[in-house]
Amino acid sequence: HVESMAQLPSGAGKIQRLNAVILGEALASEEDDLVLPSEEFSSQAHVSSPRQYLEMYSRSIQDPAGFWSEIGSQFYWKETWAPEVVSENLDVRKGAVKIEWFKGALTNICYNALDRNIEAGYGDKVAIYWEGNELGQDGQLTYKELLEKVCQLANYLKSVGVGKGDAVVIYLPMLMELPIAMLACARIGAVHSVVFAGFSAESLAQRIVDCKPKVVITCNAVRRGSKPIHLKDIVDNALVESTKNDVPVGLCLTYENPSAMKREATKWQDGRDVWWQDVVPTFPTECPVEWVDAEDPLFLLYTSGSTGKPKGVLHTTGGYMVYTATTFKYAFDYKPSDIYWCTADCGWITGHSYVTYGPLLNGATVIVFEGAPNYPDVGRCWDIVDKYKVTIFYTAPTLVRSLMRESSEYVTRYSRKSLRVLGSVGEPINPSAWRWFFNVVGDSRCPISDTWWQTETGGFMITPLPGAWPQKPGSATFPFFGVQPVIVDEKGNEIEGECSGYLCIKNSWPGAFRTLYGDHERYETTYFKPFAGYYFTGDGCSRDKDGYHWLTGRVDDVINVSGHRIGTAEVESALVSHPQCAEAAVVGIEHEVKGQGIYAFVTLIEGVPYSEELRKSLILTVRKQIGAFAAPDKIHWAPGLPKTRSGKIMRRILRKIASRQLDELGDTSTLADPGVVQQLISLSDC
Ligand code: ATP
Ligand code: MG
Repeated sequence: HVESMAQLPSGAGKIQRLNAVILGEALASEEDDLVLPSEEFSSQAHVSSPRQYLEMYSRSIQDPAGFWSEIGSQFYWKETWAPEVVSENLDVRKGAVKIEWFKGALTNICYNALDRNIEAGYGDKVAIYWEGNELGQDGQLTYKELLEKVCQLANYLKSVGVGKGDAVVIYLPMLMELPIAMLACARIGAVHSVVFAGFSAESLAQRIVDCKPKVVITCNAVRRGSKPIHLKDIVDNALVESTKNDVPVGLCLTYENPSAMKREATKWQDGRDVWWQDVVPTFPTECPVEWVDAEDPLFLLYTSGSTGKPKGVLHTTGGYMVYTATTFKYAFDYKPSDIYWCTADCGWITGHSYVTYGPLLNGATVIVFEGAPNYPDVGRCWDIVDKYKVTIFYTAPTLVRSLMRESSEYVTRYSRKSLRVLGSVGEPINPSAWRWFFNVVGDSRCPISDTWWQTETGGFMITPLPGAWPQKPGSATFPFFGVQPVIVDEKGNEIEGECSGYLCIKNSWPGAFRTLYGDHERYETTYFKPFAGYYFTGDGCSRDKDGYHWLTGRVDDVINVSGHRIGTAEVESALVSHPQCAEAAVVGIEHEVKGQGIYAFVTLIEGVPYSEELRKSLILTVRKQIGAFAAPDKIHWAPGLPKTRSGKIMRRILRKIASRQLDELGDTSTLADPGVVQQLISLSDC
């Protein structure tokens, strides 16, 4: 045991110390910030102790090929890989960056998610429960039924000439047809590019021009909350735009979503537009699988665009399949009896890896929710949890913070007894939001998996295994199997022990992206050149005395006040710990004396008025928690914050507002609500 820990990259001694805590040997009383999983939870978990984690982790690092081929062999491969499991070069100084896992093997991810599970006896198990926007509007598909629907669409796509390697753009809301469309593409080896159905025609057109799809799949309209959105009109405009850019698309397959809009009211272009319901159901419910190489592309997906223009991330088949399935199983301690709900839209990586592929590969029952978490009121999530007896609930800090603004009565009026694991993704979760999620939503019973990962990483990278580790609110804890996070300084030297710096990853993992679509040079420049020899994540991270990882925000957002480097997350978490503050975003502004000053945007708990007294009290909270050097120079009251459509705070826009560079706001196309920007500008002098 001690021998195996010697192989851990860093912080191993600290982990050993913590291990002692768990084994009840010492220290527990020192650590009042630790939240331990109950014995009842741990004893039934896949990984039930730090010791077990450490053994598996060490093996995954010492012998990645052996570790992953063992897990890989639980999937179906038409032909196995040869000769090696992994071949990689992450070091630009040694030549082109190349990552390959299971190369030469033939498989199909749709087959593994559906046919394989049906053969294993899950045919009549519910694969998807669909909950519509309106209360009482719902549906469901068993694994067998889902396979039939997927096959019909796959056969239709083949009939119109879509084949292996062809791109298909999917612009659909959270209907069951969205995962169906993804799986149908995968079944025939086509490459899907899902575009979140909240993007403008312009953003959609850009993505169409980039990947030149044979078909665009959409629906005529959707209701989100009380608002109907005419998706087909947006697609029409995007297709006019793409045609101008020499990318005409010959076929627009349109699903009729009658609860939002009747077909007669839909604008139509004969010859190009086809109703899904008119053609797809006429095709056979069986469709042979296209076997693809493990390294053949599975999908193309753009990042959220928090830091600038979105990047077209390309994932391949075999490694992604093994990695998403494995991370899902361990990070959520998944068991066949679970009912799993992830609130993310399939337009984001979270919806790819942890609504569609990861869960279905495990034979899980998944909830697909079309609506909004605040419609008809902010208790909707818990209504859904009770209705389907959800056991694993995975969401984003932005949702937690927005619900935290409201009375907890919206939560406590529901039972939520079925819940056993909670999850968070997208941004650092502030410790006070973590505690609210844990205490109020989870009744202090459910461990929280705070999963740190990226579109680029395909799956979880740093995450608690809920039965293994004591948790620290706000920390993503430890790396997943096979992942070697390192913290480096400005010069790219690895720093050991308790430290703070740039988060990089050493060596590849199966779910890693293989390139930026059509631009391998940008792939190398963005991710592998900043710190030669490593994958650079763009995020800052600190490691504490126990070896726990704390994400501190994007390194581009780090603020340097009189020589103190301050991560945005730290100051924001201090502000959010104030009982009247629901959400905060801080940015640096030029400061004559200090170099940079701290400018904080704050959103208050519902009904709390902004006042001079509150301003002072917010500043005092930061002074007390972090120190006088981190005290904000300016507090800007923000009834709403600019966020990406995936719910992340866009600090680059806030920086421009803070420094009054209003004509340099940059690309705002991925903003969820552009109106927020004007509102903030008008409140600048409050
Ligand atoms: P872009 O790369 O276009 O700016 P983005 O980075 O927001 O967009 P994603 O790939 O969706 O696009 O998000 C990944 C990023 O989200 C991470 O790099 C990190 O900054 C943040 N993140 C995700 N999960 C967590 C988490 N659990 N804790 C802290 N930060 C997280
Ligand atoms: Mg990013």
